Amino acid sequence: MSDKKKNDNIRCSVSQCLHNMVTEDYCSLGCISVGTHEENPTVPECTDCNSFVKRTGCCQ
Ligand code: SF4
Repeated sequence: MSDKKKNDNIRCSVSQCLHNMVTEDYCSLGCISVGTHEENPTVPECTDCNSFVKRTGCCQ
């Protein structure tokens, strides 16, 4: 559980995600998958991290 290792190459502030370091704004995965929910993405808000997993006890 606590052996998560920060990936210096992936900054992320989504603390509700199981893979987030929480104490630092970084992801702990070695690689993530990013996608979009739009037909023609034009701004960052159009993109999604598809590796997101809801952290237990969060976002009830
Ligand atoms: S999996 Fe995606 S949302 Fe979750 S911490 Fe990593 S980059 Fe952020």
